[in-house]
Amino acid sequence: MNNTIRVTKIFHFEMAHALDGHDGLCQHIHGHSYVLEVCLIGKPDPNPQSPKQGMVMDFADLKGIINRLIISRFDHALVVRQDSNTHRLQANNPNARIVAVPFQPTCENMLPYFASLLTHELPHGVALHHLRLHETASAFAEWYASDNDH
Ligand SMILES: [Zn+2]
Repeated sequence: MNNTIRVTKIFHFEMAHALDGHDGLCQHIHGHSYVLEVCLIGKPDPNPQSPKQGMVMDFADLKGIINRLIISRFDHALVVRQDSNTHRLQANNPNARIVAVPFQPTCENMLPYFASLLTHELPHGVALHHLRLHETASAFAEWYASDNDH
């Protein structure tokens, strides 16, 4: 049956970051209104007894997972590389919600990290097809499962 379907849900969060060592303005602490598009692929549940009949994955369940794994942690946070000067200077700032990561927190580097968080949480038969992360209205990066081996 030709019913492999991609479903996408869009999330918004506000996040600050600083790119230590960058040769421009991004070295400074600044923020973006991020837009994360999560695209899953699978087949709609054919079971007429299932409350999820006709769904690849309930959008509400996807929302719950993204909120728990990503939004609750990164929204209104300052994300810094764990070995950066910014982290050292901000680590004890009581007014900052710091998330230290082991990579430069660019849009590009956030994507495989988000993908790795997400792939383990998806139900059987549902796969992550791609993620798109908008940093601004005109700039985004994408991660595709098909471009990456697991
Ligand atoms: Zn930025």
